[in-house]
Amino acid sequence: MLRHSLATLTLVALVATASHAQVTRYVRYTVGGTTSYGILEGQTVRELSGDLFASPRATGRSLRLDQVRLLAPVEPGKVIAVGLNYLTHLGERPAAAYPGLFAKMPTSIVGPDSDVIYPADATNLHFEGELVVVIGRRAHDVTAAQAPNHVFGVTAGNDISERDWQRADLQWFRAKASDTFGPLGPAIVTGLTYGDLLLQTRVNGEVVQSQRTRDLVFDVPSIVSYVSRYVTLEPGDVIYTGTPGTTKAMKPGDVVEVEIEGIGILRNRIVKK
Ligand code: MG
Repeated sequence: MLRHSLATLTLVALVATASHAQVTRYVRYTVGGTTSYGILEGQTVRELSGDLFASPRATGRSLRLDQVRLLAPVEPGKVIAVGLNYLTHLGERPAAAYPGLFAKMPTSIVGPDSDVIYPADATNLHFEGELVVVIGRRAHDVTAAQAPNHVFGVTAGNDISERDWQRADLQWFRAKASDTFGPLGPAIVTGLTYGDLLLQTRVNGEVVQSQRTRDLVFDVPSIVSYVSRYVTLEPGDVIYTGTPGTTKAMKPGDVVEVEIEGIGILRNRIVKK
């Protein structure tokens, strides 16, 4: 009986900790030619040393946010994405029975305030604001129940897509994976309940996408579990979870922002090559 009570108390304590988990915002930045990870607190960046995914330590050095240039918050080995994962994005298409996966490239990734290159022969470049999962622990064939233990945190992403190439090409390779087609950031947030966050995309200040992540057809644990059946996920790998609503063509000079509640604003300018 005593043992049972203790176990129950421990469980209650764990649940309480989980629901009030501390939210931490990790950034990657460059200053004076040196690249570091840090924890962002308000307008202050506290420098870290060591591996972001293996208990990094605070160096005690801190900087003002306006003294540093933010980079993409992670350098992923793999960039995986889910297509057609909000009912509002499906149009007349039926919902899939399983997540539709495709790949982007590590060289697709750019950070906040970096330019997105509009390729010389592109004609139909679209934004896709998305919640992005960052893996923190190796995941191979994990269940949806186990999956959250392998997620480090979440960030915002823009799955830039050349729609004409997407339709015409054998695969979505250049349509989705060209250089700079994967803006990511500004921070990886841990401890955030990511199942119901407001996601908004703006082009030149006009709201063009607005949806909550609870409307994902396949939620984050299901996606991580599904991917891990086929591809071993490593710390730092990222998964773009899909975009809501309809998307539109952008033109060079446009400024596109993806804002996710609790994460921040990912802002990039479209620039003709
Ligand atoms: Mg997408």
